[in-house]
Formats: sequence, C-alpha cells, structure tokens
Amino acid sequence: MQFIDLNFQQQKIKDKIDANIQNVLAHGKYILGPEVKELEQKLAEYAGVEYAIGVASGTDALLMPLMVNDVGPNDAIFTVSFTFIATAEVIKLLGATPVFVDIEPDTFNIDVNKLEEAIEKVKKEGKLNLKGIIPVDLFGQPADYDEINAIAKKYGMFVLEDAAQGFGGSYKGKKTCSLTDIGATSFFPAKPLGTYGDGGMCFTNDKEIYDRLLSIRVHGKGSHKYDNVRVGINGRLDTLMAAILLAKFEIFNEEINLRQNVANRYSEKLDDVVKTPFVKDHNISAWAQYSILHPDREKVMAGLKEDGIPTAIYYPKPLHLQDAFADLGYKYGDLPVSEKMAAEIFSIPMYPYLNENNQDKIVESIKKNA
Ligand SMILES: *Cc1c(COP(=O)(O)O)cnc(C)c1O
Repeated sequence: MQFIDLNFQQQKIKDKIDANIQNVLAHGKYILGPEVKELEQKLAEYAGVEYAIGVASGTDALLMPLMVNDVGPNDAIFTVSFTFIATAEVIKLLGATPVFVDIEPDTFNIDVNKLEEAIEKVKKEGKLNLKGIIPVDLFGQPADYDEINAIAKKYGMFVLEDAAQGFGGSYKGKKTCSLTDIGATSFFPAKPLGTYGDGGMCFTNDKEIYDRLLSIRVHGKGSHKYDNVRVGINGRLDTLMAAILLAKFEIFNEEINLRQNVANRYSEKLDDVVKTPFVKDHNISAWAQYSILHPDREKVMAGLKEDGIPTAIYYPKPLHLQDAFADLGYKYGDLPVSEKMAAEIFSIPMYPYLNENNQDKIVESIKKNA
C-alpha cells in the first residue's frame, strides 16, 4: 500500500496525458505555450475569479503576491506556525517579519481571536507595519475567511490565501482561491490537483494585481521582455506541466467527491477510536490529507507500519520552533495548540482511488493499535 498512489489516476487518463504531451512536443512552445493560458482560463472559471496566472510552484504563488504588495523590511505578515515551511519562508525571504498565530485545535486553521490579539500586540509595540495575513487551508479545509477579511479590512491589510492544500474545497458555497485579495495554490504531485513536476497558480479579481503578477512572473518586465520596470523572478508554469494538468483537471471534480467518500467512511469507522478531522458545516474540504490525533501516535504508527500501512506526520515541528526562524525569538510554550498538535497528529493514506478493502485494513490496524 502507498501513502498516495498516483498510478490509478494515471491509468485512468493515460491516453489523454500522452496526447497532451505529444501536442506540446509538436508545437514546441515550451515556455508560456497555449496550454498555460487554457489552464489559467479553466481554473479561473472553476474558482470563480476573473484572473488566474500559472506560476512555477506553490512557493512562487505565495512569494509573488507578497512582491506585488511590496512586502519588505519592517512589515509584519501574520500567519500560522503549524504549516509547511513555504508559507512563512517567503515572508522572511523578502526581509519581512512573520508573526505566528496559534490555531484552532479542531480545524488546525488560524484562530481568528488570536489573530486579532497578535495584531493588537504588534500595533502597540509600534515597530512593524501591519501589512498582510496569510491563512492556510490546512489539509484542504478553508480557514474562517469572513472573520479574517473583516480583521484585514479593519487594520488595512491584504489577505493571501495559502490554498496549496485547499484547491477544490469551498467555503460558504464559494471555491477556495476566490475568498481573499489573492489566492495561491500548488500543483506539486501529491496535492489534490497535482502535476508531474512543480507548478502553482495565483488567483485574483483585481486587474492591477493581475498585471503586476504578469510582470513579476517574467523578471519584472514592462512593455516587453527587455524593458524591466521592477525586480521580478522567473516564475513561469511550464507548458508541459499545464498540458498534464489539463488532462487531470477533467476528472478533478469527480476526484474531490471520491476523496470525500474516503474521508466519510474513515470518519464513520474511526470516530470512537481516535480524534478524527472536524470540518465546519459551511466548509467542503479538498482532503489533501486525512489527519488524526492520538496521544501515543508513535505506538499507533509503529503498529500500522508492521501491517504494511504507511503514515506521515504533517507537521512534526511547528515553524516558530525551527532554526530557520530562531532569530524571531519564539520559544516552546508560545503557541501551545500548534505544539500539542505537532506532538499528536499523523496522517493516513488518502487519495481518490483508495479502495474499501484497503480502507478497512487501515481502520482495523488503527483499532488494534490505538
Ligand atoms: C505544498 C505547500 C506549499 C508549497 O508548494 P510547492 O508547490 O511545493 O512550492 C505551500 N504551502 C502549503 C501549505 C503547502 O502544503
């Protein structure tokens, strides 16, 4: 058994993938070819926004919107500690200061009450500009965007949704990546919509933001490639990656439903055994991961391993305790919920084609070992 098995999906759409790749080899437009534009249009429509822009990775999809907003030294960007390093790495890369906010113990997403407390604290200290907020849709579930957007408005900040795990999910009937000023997702192979390499996308309804993203994606270009009006990056999505994604996108909705079925069945059978994921009524999760809590996870994971079942820990060490952010001066005890989750959480196999037989094996093994 694999933790995420991409083979079933490939078998299902292999002809389409092959044909799309052959098309790219035939037309030869490897950089920003027509497939990139087509994917941008399709995903913008899916997300329900005006503009989408294909970029080189989920990390670039977070970095570029910060560049659009001229984030730099003396700016505070509020985000979570219980996430993948990329969420906060991009803040520090631009010389700004990540301010880590604790999470809700049930959804693992940013706690909006603590967000406002953290903002007030930074405001009182008076050293940093209140610049932006990066909430994360952890494991596929959207954060509390009505509250977050209201707080951002009150303090004059932008909101960048890190939907690297959340693409395909929705909040109060609206798709992720349409919920804030800018949405960002990742096409890393293991993400809900993954390609066979790196890739990402930014989403916005704001034409000015879109135009700046287009410029930053190609080295800060102005009217043409050799007119550089700002400092940018090489942030382009490869045509080949877009071609593969076009094939995968055709079955994406179906796959989101299949993930939901797997999650429902897991939760039904595991509710009394371990702490299963909680999804708010107004949310639909993209189920990037199915993560459970157990006070002695090492024991349960060892038992699963003996039964041939792979597991993973997202995330064993919250970012405020990582050496990469040591200069920020956080210490153990600063974000107790993030720290507790990091100590008890682990994820079990989750992908659309995980069959009931394998699910039952996983469930039985957890029951035996919990
Ligand atoms: C995967 C991920 C990223 C980064 O995406 P890449 O495509 O790997 O650069 C950012 N944030 C979160 C929450 C992620 O899970």
